[in-house]
Amino acid sequence: MKNKKLDAAEVWKQMEDLAAPQLRLSVHERAVYTYLLRHSRIEGKPRLRFSIGWLRRGAGLTIRAARKAVRGLVAKGALRMIGRGREGHLVEVRVPEEIRGVRAGEIAACRAARARELDNLEEADFLGSPELREAIHRREGGRCFYCGRQLSPRTRCLDHVVPLAHLGGNSYRNLVSSCRECNSLKRERQPSDFLRWLYREGRLSAGELSGRLRALAGLGAGKLRPALAAAANGKWKLEIRKGVREGLRRRGSRSKVEG
Ligand SMILES: [Zn+2]
Repeated sequence: MKNKKLDAAEVWKQMEDLAAPQLRLSVHERAVYTYLLRHSRIEGKPRLRFSIGWLRRGAGLTIRAARKAVRGLVAKGALRMIGRGREGHLVEVRVPEEIRGVRAGEIAACRAARARELDNLEEADFLGSPELREAIHRREGGRCFYCGRQLSPRTRCLDHVVPLAHLGGNSYRNLVSSCRECNSLKRERQPSDFLRWLYREGRLSAGELSGRLRALAGLGAGKLRPALAAAANGKWKLEIRKGVREGLRRRGSRSKVEG
């Protein structure tokens, strides 16, 4: 078994969406499986040696329930028993996509769906809904993207990094949370020119300037994706779709937006 670095979020989704329902894992089996995964694969170790006492304490089960869950997981292919002895059990812990009973087609479909979500994110008009606008403000952590000043809902606005007149759009790569002063001072200037001007004016230190220029490059490269709350994912999908529709309707209308 390869021991490549795992994407823990991906493994967790596959476990909830595919492994648990398809293998019909019991509550105890789920508790044991996630506990063993956490101490093996998530730590980069394909195999794990453990005692039933350790497992039972960690998973919050009786000894009997822990033993039964281990047997169940071996039978379902989630664990491969390599050895059992005085030093405890030695098992190979499989991630969902390595378990024979978990259908590979569905895993591929899950990946494709997530890739589509990302595509949607790229196309979304982040001025299209209050929630998406808020996501941009949240990404900046309540500070002006340019001067770093602390913002409040009354003093903030969204600024087009590349002005709309220069073909900037409403993507998350081109919108930042900014104070009203920076928004009006920047006008049609290029963002890097504006940051250097702030430095010359003494509003940014040299270190802050280079930090802001790096952030600017990351923004354009798509590295500053607004975090979409996992718990509200379904809602976000809806918001993004709405944002895409709005974007098609009124692309390129304003350069500053309240919010
Ligand atoms: Zn500012």
